[in-house]
Amino acid sequence: MSTQAINRFRAINANPNRTKRAEAFLKNKRMSIGGSYVCDVTCGECNDTAAAAFGGWDAIACSQCGAEMYRHEAIPEIDSYYRLYAAGACDKWHAFAQIFAYIDSSRVTLKQAAKIGTEYWVPESATYEMRQRFNALDAAGKDAVTS
Ligand SMILES: [Zn+2]
Repeated sequence: MSTQAINRFRAINANPNRTKRAEAFLKNKRMSIGGSYVCDVTCGECNDTAAAAFGGWDAIACSQCGAEMYRHEAIPEIDSYYRLYAAGACDKWHAFAQIFAYIDSSRVTLKQAAKIGTEYWVPESATYEMRQRFNALDAAGKDAVTS
């Protein structure tokens, strides 16, 4: 998915009070005077750049816009699809297909994704149910191919 598309998704926010999630872009890894690694982190939401420890975190807050910046790009992507679905801007099956694709190709778990969904009034049980339905479709598809 292109960066442009993600930014477009951010314009649709089902819950204006929730924290924004953005990708953290890391560069310029270097040794600090204290002997630990630091880097420059750019916020995917507002483009502000600040120095931060290179290791020891999965998410940090942007001091400029307050977004939660995630080292793992899949979290903000999953967030975007729940937001689109909750806003009625994306078909349920398309949204969950994308969410499960990010889970399948990354270290993000179904449980983590389901928790994000609850911020958009999608109950955890709805995410688990959709996963089962997708798994059933996958199994049926494989049967159709092999038989
Ligand atoms: Zn920011």
